[in-house]
Amino acid sequence: MSLQKRTLLKVIVLGDSGVGKTSLMNQYVHMKFSQQYKATIGADFVTKELQIDERNVTLQIWDTAGQERFQSLGVAFYRGADCCVLVYDVNVMKSFDNLDNWHEEFLKQANPTDPKTFPFILLGNKIDLDGGNSRVVSETKAKDWCALKENIPYFETSAKEDINVGEAFHCIAKTALANEREQDIYFQGIPDVVTQTEQKGGCAC
Ligand code: GDP
Ligand code: MG
Repeated sequence: MSLQKRTLLKVIVLGDSGVGKTSLMNQYVHMKFSQQYKATIGADFVTKELQIDERNVTLQIWDTAGQERFQSLGVAFYRGADCCVLVYDVNVMKSFDNLDNWHEEFLKQANPTDPKTFPFILLGNKIDLDGGNSRVVSETKAKDWCALKENIPYFETSAKEDINVGEAFHCIAKTALANEREQDIYFQGIPDVVTQTEQKGGCAC
């Protein structure tokens, strides 16, 4: 039996309440979508194991309620983040306008060594809504915002129809891996398939 290296990547998902943060995570990790809106209380994480460039990776994806005040999330929420995913709803202008605040606050709270190179990813969610007729933020507008912010990668997604969700999280994992912290964990044995497990966690703060 050999020791296999597994890299833990912490990903933080931020954005206004109701944009679909929890739904995107559920679609990615559980392949499930629910119409029901259940506000996330405080902060919570789910994990998914995958292989990126032949490396075993555990994505630890932290979710939060959008209305939570940043400060009340506590330092534990931000500590050691490898990537920050910003989510807005393409049908709600305010959720797009608030991206600057989420971006700034993340940098303020997480205080990464180099804010200019810290990896962010932007997701414009709910592209399925009303067949695209209720959309108020164009793809160009979103891409312009990303270009102004050190070329943040951008994905248009639907958690409901499972559009681009896997692709977005794959990019998130790759981006986070490039920025990994020195916190690898080890397990025994060599997995012969890409495994997917779930683990519930919480924030002690
Ligand atoms: P959060 O507050 O950002 O975590 O948002 P939720 O994931 O709880 O989603 C808020 C509401 O939007 C729920 O009723 C979801 O079912 C719905 N929703 C989330 N993603 C999508 C999507 O891609 N398309 C549509 N049509 N509805 C969505
Ligand atoms: Mg939520």
